[in-house]
Amino acid sequence: MPIIASNFKTNHTRKSTSLFIEKLNNYLQSNDIKDEVYVFPTSTSLDSFNTVSNLLLGVQNAYPAKNGSFTGEIGLEQLEEFDIKTILIGHSERRHILGETQEEIAKKYEFYKNLGFRIIYCIGEPLEIKNAGLEKTLEYIYEQFIDIDTNYSNLILAYEPVWAIGTGVTATNDDIGSVHKAIKEKINKPLLYGGSVKVENVKEICKIENVDGALIGTASWKIEDFIKIIENTK
Ligand code: PGA
Repeated sequence: MPIIASNFKTNHTRKSTSLFIEKLNNYLQSNDIKDEVYVFPTSTSLDSFNTVSNLLLGVQNAYPAKNGSFTGEIGLEQLEEFDIKTILIGHSERRHILGETQEEIAKKYEFYKNLGFRIIYCIGEPLEIKNAGLEKTLEYIYEQFIDIDTNYSNLILAYEPVWAIGTGVTATNDDIGSVHKAIKEKINKPLLYGGSVKVENVKEICKIENVDGALIGTASWKIEDFIKIIENTK
């Protein structure tokens, strides 16, 4: 089964998150699915997961420090409280909306890598770069690997074209196939696709060569849909 991950972004309350997780976990247990489904809830909901067993829970972000004076951030000490060992790094919303630089991203990567975290590392190009062609797209993507140790054993990559995220516009199968092939040739790690993946297209996307799964935002926020997404990839 491919890897399927749900990124809640800034959605769901603690209550709705725990309902989601309970239903998801029941589904995964009764279908004997383990270690292939990830959920990245908001940090305020991390305490609803004491009984989580079949899914992997991660954070959308954390600061590269155990603790300290970093207003608004959470650090390792807070993650340890909830036994979190999985982190999303380099998401395009953090790069482009929150202004995280490659230098900051690389620092975060190094910090959590040294702690053995499972890292889902996101890369992807904006529309003007896509329009400039495949060569420019790959050039842009490779710059997102500056100071990133791609030999790290606990690394999963996620190719998420910025223009496809939350827009309803999915990249074509050819686009996905050619970018994934090129990245895989350079970095042989599990490689997810993200960007308007939904119930209707997940099966086809996951069948494309060099696609090892999907990272999903919008279409994963309703538990019924997320379960359908998983069902469609089995
Ligand atoms: P989307 O988001 O599925 O809403 O396009 C994907 C992501 O940001 O990971």
